[in-house]
Amino acid sequence: MAAADGRSGDFRVRGGSVGGRIDRLVVENFKSYKGEQTIGPFVDFTAIIGPNGAGKSNLMDAISFVLGVRSTHLRGAQLKDLIYALDDRDKEAKGRKASVRLFYCQPNQEELCFTRSITGAGGSEYRIDRNQVTWDVYNAKLRSLGILVKARNFLVFQGDVESIASKNPKELTALLEQISGSDELRREYDELEEQKARAEEKSALVYQEKRTIVMERKQKKVQKEEAEKHLRLQQDLKLLKTEHYLWQLYTIEKDIEKIEAELVEDRESLQQVQEENRSSDYELTAKKKEQSAFLKKITLSEKSITKKKLELDKKQPELLKLKEQISRLKSKIKSCKKEIDKKKDDHKKHLGELRRLQSDLVEVTEAIEELNEQGQDTSGKLLLADDQLQEYHRM
Ligand code: ATP
Ligand code: MG
Repeated sequence: MAAADGRSGDFRVRGGSVGGRIDRLVVENFKSYKGEQTIGPFVDFTAIIGPNGAGKSNLMDAISFVLGVRSTHLRGAQLKDLIYALDDRDKEAKGRKASVRLFYCQPNQEELCFTRSITGAGGSEYRIDRNQVTWDVYNAKLRSLGILVKARNFLVFQGDVESIASKNPKELTALLEQISGSDELRREYDELEEQKARAEEKSALVYQEKRTIVMERKQKKVQKEEAEKHLRLQQDLKLLKTEHYLWQLYTIEKDIEKIEAELVEDRESLQQVQEENRSSDYELTAKKKEQSAFLKKITLSEKSITKKKLELDKKQPELLKLKEQISRLKSKIKSCKKEIDKKKDDHKKHLGELRRLQSDLVEVTEAIEELNEQGQDTSGKLLLADDQLQEYHRM
């Protein structure tokens, strides 16, 4: 379909990449179209002509509108600007509505009716045939027909050819990606790329982990063997311990027997000792009695000692006196002894003299007898000188 535009010439409406085409439009209070107006049916090539302000561009806006293009991309900032209004009073009126119905002829000649309405509240309402649907369902249906709303690949807008021709390769690529819909996949692609990077990172990590695990496995194997050995040794140790404890039990039992025998002996000896102890106790009691008697005696003795001491103290001066007397007597005895010795010496001398005198006496006696014999012969009497008489008497 082609429309002669007053400003720049032709525009084309492509009926999608799958071979369908727009059959007709039914607009109601849309922009300059007052009330319900049917535009079409269109044939394979249709030109729309008219003077400036006739509504050619409004028709294109109607197609864009019903195919979901946002109001900002249409010539009108708000949806309500798209509703027919003759003057400002009309614009201010409330509850105004507008709609565009697009009858799409599919390759199998089946007709689909897309409807977009501006509600009284100022929102958009979508219908496929007569069923009200959400924007997502509506858009999905259009997409299934090859109409990409975002790429606006269903219309060649005024100036599009010129702008495309002046695009650089990068911009052209972007446009082609937009038209082909591949930019729709960009986010998914980027996400998948990111996922891939993450997966690669994860894989590297997993590989690293695997290596670590292999190493750990080796270590664990060694550790396991060691643990098994340890367990075996522990088992052996257990057996040995059991044996050891049994041996200990055996020796303990032996010891117990021995100790019990000793205990019997000890008990016997204890009994003896206890008996001895009892008798000792008796003795002890007796001894204690004795002791108490002795203690009494001691007390009495102590008392008497004290008494005696007192007496002794009293006697002390007398004792001193006596001691003095004794010393005096001793010195006297000493002097007496000396005298006795002297006397003894004298005695000895006297005895010697006595013996001499006795011998002298004997001599004298003999002499006397001799003289007597001689005297008898003469007068019968002995005449002694005076000194001889004295000696005689002395002896
Ligand atoms: P040209 O040849 O100059 O491009 P055209 O045929 O494309 O003109 P359009 O732009 O389709 O003309 O129509 C413009 C006309 O639509 C204007 O007269 C304008 O007043 C009218 N118009 C736009 N919006 C509304 C509206 N909401 N209510 C009533 N009329 C409207
Ligand atoms: Mg125009």
